[in-house]
Amino acid sequence: MFTYQIIANKRDGRALTKAEINYIIRNYTNGKIPDYQMAAWLMAIYLQDMNFEETSCLTTAMLHSGETINLNDISGYKIDKHSTGGVGDKISLILAPLVAAAGVKVPMISGRGLAHTGGTLDKLESIPGFRTTLSTEEFRDNIKNIGVSIIGQSEKIVPADKKIYALRDTTATIDSIPLITASILSKKLAEDLNGLVLDIKVGNGAFMRDEKHAEALAQNMIETAKLNNLKAIALLTDMSQPLGNMAGNWLEVKESIQVLQGNGADDLMELTLTLGAHMLILADFTDNLGEAKDKLKKILQSGKAFEKFLELIQAQGGDISFIKNPDKYPKAKYIIDIYAKENGYIQKIDTKEIGTLIVDLGGGRRNISDKIDFSAGIELHKKCGDRINTGEKLATIHTNKLLPDVKQRIYNSIEISLKPSEKPQLLIKIIK
Ligand code: URA
Repeated sequence: MFTYQIIANKRDGRALTKAEINYIIRNYTNGKIPDYQMAAWLMAIYLQDMNFEETSCLTTAMLHSGETINLNDISGYKIDKHSTGGVGDKISLILAPLVAAAGVKVPMISGRGLAHTGGTLDKLESIPGFRTTLSTEEFRDNIKNIGVSIIGQSEKIVPADKKIYALRDTTATIDSIPLITASILSKKLAEDLNGLVLDIKVGNGAFMRDEKHAEALAQNMIETAKLNNLKAIALLTDMSQPLGNMAGNWLEVKESIQVLQGNGADDLMELTLTLGAHMLILADFTDNLGEAKDKLKKILQSGKAFEKFLELIQAQGGDISFIKNPDKYPKAKYIIDIYAKENGYIQKIDTKEIGTLIVDLGGGRRNISDKIDFSAGIELHKKCGDRINTGEKLATIHTNKLLPDVKQRIYNSIEISLKPSEKPQLLIKIIK
């Protein structure tokens, strides 16, 4: 088989065979196919799309590019959640310990930042000492002993996604339904789950900017999960503004700590409880959403979720003194407050631009080898629907490098006018 011919087949809009897909994934993973050919193949998929059969073959090929984890001998339901990515989306950091504290096992293979969106692994790695690469035994031990572990793809587990993910990030091939489906589900199927909650982000900060595309992604993922005997539910949720008030790696850990201590921003609290409640329902704890939310609320208030977070951080080598005392963390050199120039209501936030600004400040990668500045980020003091007066604080930039246009970029990305505006609806639709 020739790589060149398989690239040409997809470029010309032909459906690929299982053998062709397996060939590409196997030989890219083992280093025989170079990045430039893989990038061309990914771009051909991006432009020509894949049918459902091709997508499920791609998912299976990526899943079997490495070992899968067997959790059979560990008792209890194993349930995970995965988001398609957004700005300020730190839910996994809160949800994994919260749901584990409720008694569900949460094995989680996550990703890094992609384009303008943040990644759970980068956020966790902002905690000094935290290891996102564990051996399969260490991962299993964590699930067995504390009920939760969060790792990344590795040379052993879904290595194909590890390589493809990084390549997509730098070749403008992220927002493709088959590539997102295969990337997420290959990781989730490797975890030996009983159930999966998918948070499909919709809006100007998501890869799926409108409901129609988000719904198509959700359907594709649910069907692919079903084909692999994995029970899944997808929630289409708002990403037309950053989630919570902080975006940027360490700032998001800090905000997660606030939520785990029971005092987070309303949208963050609400979405955490909703996604968590669906995880409890998949784990057969109850079939009543309100009851599941109440249970999780009580766990947050009791401090048990925060304790579980400390256990998780410690089990993966992180220095918990920074979690117990977040103010100890080194601050960015420049902390720049930006004030409103007019009275009115926040109408719209250009979420992608906020995420891109964080990347430009050093909080994300432009190239595979870029090192992240964990302290870089943006705090938003007002969100869509909020009233603001001239001279009130609109945003705060945390940065170690001074970009000349940073203030103007914030003003350009937050629209204020006198007309009262509504808060966006957080939960848009549920697809089963
Ligand atoms: N999250 C993933 O793991 N993969 C994607 O492609 C997008 C979001």
